[in-house]
Amino acid sequence: MAAPMSDAHRQFLQALMALGIAERAEAGRLHRQCCERHHVYYGHDKLDDFISTLNVQLQPLFMEIRKGLAEDSGRAYYALVNLAETEVTKMASDYSESELELFKKTMDLIVLSGSGFVSSTEILNLADQLKPKKMKKTEAEQVLQSLVQDKWLTEKEGEYTLHLRCILELEEYILRHYQDSVHKCHICHSLAIQSQVCEDCGVAMHLPCLAKYFQAQTEPRCPHCKQFWPHQIPEVSPAGSHRLSSTAKEGRRISLTAPRRR
Ligand SMILES: [Zn+2]
Ligand SMILES: [Zn+2]
Repeated sequence: MAAPMSDAHRQFLQALMALGIAERAEAGRLHRQCCERHHVYYGHDKLDDFISTLNVQLQPLFMEIRKGLAEDSGRAYYALVNLAETEVTKMASDYSESELELFKKTMDLIVLSGSGFVSSTEILNLADQLKPKKMKKTEAEQVLQSLVQDKWLTEKEGEYTLHLRCILELEEYILRHYQDSVHKCHICHSLAIQSQVCEDCGVAMHLPCLAKYFQAQTEPRCPHCKQFWPHQIPEVSPAGSHRLSSTAKEGRRISLTAPRRR
């Protein structure tokens, strides 16, 4: 049963609201600080219970703290998401119609790309097809920056993908809207935006999931159809190597976007 809500919970929620998303270790530190300050029982393994208590309170407000794994590093994050509407239209208060249109078209490109990444050039080329109003490229660039700042998109060296916070918030929408074209990871069964896809059977896997999977295999073969895996397999990233917001190492990014044939 969930414990009663305390001032420690309230302070934790305020901090997470300001951050939008926090890595497991950061959320753990916050949990401890909040409990110590308000003299509330603290157990280092009790973060999920602590969050369950908050989620009970958040439910009537159509909000939830969701846990998810970063698609690039496989590390756990907690995000405060808004479930009031599962459509992208909930962004309508912050963005104009044309700006939303740019985001939706960008999301189409990202989801349908297979790799999960699209270049800024591809996105900026959409600017003069937007409805109801075309956008100048410089304008579209600014909108992209806001979308990154608001944690809808994340950018790595000129390539854009969906931010984990966005995936956690829009998961139901993405699954419904893209139905047959969106992939679920063969290993962890959650939505896979950044992934490698088998060219024979279409099975998709997250990079951290497939890196771990292939580590235990003698030969890189598709876990479903057993054909040779045609993409470069990323190394299992050592803990603490990078965060969502930092730029990935050059070699790693290339291995995601330009798979090499064997
Ligand atoms: Zn996975
Ligand atoms: Zn296959």
